[in-house]
Amino acid sequence: MATIFTHALLPIAAKLTLPPGALPGKLVALAAAATMLPDLDVIAFAFGVPYADPFGHRGFTHSIAFALAIGFLCTGLAQKLNSQPKVIFWTMFLSVLSHPLLDSFTNGGLGVAWFWPFSDARYFMPWQPIEVSPIGIRGFFSSRGVQVLVSEFMWVIAPLLTVAAGLRFWLSRKAKRP
Ligand SMILES: [Zn+2]
Repeated sequence: MATIFTHALLPIAAKLTLPPGALPGKLVALAAAATMLPDLDVIAFAFGVPYADPFGHRGFTHSIAFALAIGFLCTGLAQKLNSQPKVIFWTMFLSVLSHPLLDSFTNGGLGVAWFWPFSDARYFMPWQPIEVSPIGIRGFFSSRGVQVLVSEFMWVIAPLLTVAAGLRFWLSRKAKRP
């Protein structure tokens, strides 16, 4: 994993970028929480499931199929979330998918099972600049934890905020034009 804060950033950045009202707050909160969902699979370690197993860490919960399933499931909450099923689907799908995407840019552990259930193969990106986050709280509050945050800031948070600010500027100028 990258750290949970960084995973949650994508829906929040989308909310800040898009025109007010495009993404309801409740949907963004749900999407931010859902970005952490794939890492619930670390529970598998407690049950002795090996990392490389499709049901181990970075296995099925890190697949495109899992993100699609969460997207579809959440469309049932359209009334509660005060949003259209199409908007909910894309927000949830992309938010959950951003998690394995980030993981595949990290430099440790095994890759992600993108194509489960069709293939159990694990994939990394050809370029992995992000320091992998230690699993568990103790590892997190260590000098390695700081190193991880710095690398996530450099490779994810800063670029994402720059793109978001740029888009926001462009959208607001477009809106002002007659
Ligand atoms: Zn993960």
